[in-house]
Amino acid sequence: MTKVAVLGAGINGLSCAVKIKEKYPYIDVVIIANDFTPNTTGDGSGGLWYPYLCGSTSPQLLSKWGGETYKYLHKLWLKGGYDVSLMPMLELYRHKRELPIDEWASSVFGYRILDQHQLDYLSGLYSVKYVAGRTFTTLVVYPPTILAEMYRRFKQVNGFVIQSNINSLRDTKLSDYNVVINCMGLGSRDAVPDYKVIPIRGQISRIEAPWINNTVVDEDTGNYIIPNVYNCVLGGTHQENNYNRDINDNDTDFILNGCMELMPGIQHAKPITHWVGLRPGREKIRLESEEKDGKFYIHNYGHGGSGLTLFWGCASDVLEIFDNYMNIIKQKEKSKL
Ligand SMILES: Cc1cc2nc3c(=O)[nH]c(=O)nc-3n(C[C@H](O)[C@H](O)[C@H](O)COP(=O)(O)OP(=O)(O)OC[C@H]3O[C@@H](n4cnc5c(N)ncnc54)[C@H](O)[C@@H]3O)c2cc1C
Repeated sequence: MTKVAVLGAGINGLSCAVKIKEKYPYIDVVIIANDFTPNTTGDGSGGLWYPYLCGSTSPQLLSKWGGETYKYLHKLWLKGGYDVSLMPMLELYRHKRELPIDEWASSVFGYRILDQHQLDYLSGLYSVKYVAGRTFTTLVVYPPTILAEMYRRFKQVNGFVIQSNINSLRDTKLSDYNVVINCMGLGSRDAVPDYKVIPIRGQISRIEAPWINNTVVDEDTGNYIIPNVYNCVLGGTHQENNYNRDINDNDTDFILNGCMELMPGIQHAKPITHWVGLRPGREKIRLESEEKDGKFYIHNYGHGGSGLTLFWGCASDVLEIFDNYMNIIKQKEKSKL
């Protein structure tokens, strides 16, 4: 009898658990995690669809996973009621450079490299002289809504959840499960252990600025402005190997001053909150299976700054690996008869 434990209740754990339990309703699937929504990394994130800080993960995989997630979010946007926004995204540079076309360009609407005319227009609009850039239509989610939706779907098909810490993949709490799906993000560093996983500290601010209706990323300073249906996220830092979850005043100044330089009107916006999260960074995303000590593991972690951009496509690959496992089990059972 197959019993599945999904470790982690972030966007990746929830979406894998949903896909497996919806396809195999008769199998026991439990999510074990120490934090659930609204307290996971993804809940506090910018919610922007944009492949970012995912190491050397192949462009083909980013395109496959990101493209499927983009389609899924677009479907939610069309349905309405899921707090997903569709908006222009501008990736802008202050220093001249040749920009290649991204592998995922054909997965999104309206992708193009900006020409001089558009750059001149945007430089006037944003109070900074930009000399290179890309644009495309992106999707921005309000993360707690999408996480709550995934949680609801899992519970609706009678999925179980347990709040508990997992010290290692050999933890005795896992002894009843023959399949373990590891989506513990940064927690994988100690639990696997996999020391290629590192924290990439991100500090952001939230403001009330309902007049902002597109996303802007200034790639040369690292500042970004991401409006969602309820507020607007200003960012941000990406400090590798930094575990500090406290708000740093210098970072706050960098975020607010940098975004105000770009868009001076932000000085009149009402501040809401500051937040720090640790992105699960890795040289590349680990999505693969492993058989060890009589158990079948599927690892799905190390999504860096792209968990909300890739989750649905990654969960499909996890499901495919699980399907293959189930087929082998069925064959073995048949051959015993
Ligand atoms: C400031 C900031 C802004 C971001 N903006 C964006 C964005 O705009 N777009 C985007 O795509 N991504 C963004 N990200 C990245 C995104 O948040 C992550 O990639 C995503 O949250 C990773 O999801 P995950 O499910 O793999 O891990 P997590 O969300 O970290 O979830 C891990 C889960 O595992 C559990 N866990 C961990 N260790 C253990 C353990 N030992 N025992 C039991 N449970 C454990 C946790 O409790 C949690 O449930 C941002 C991140 C930050 C910090």
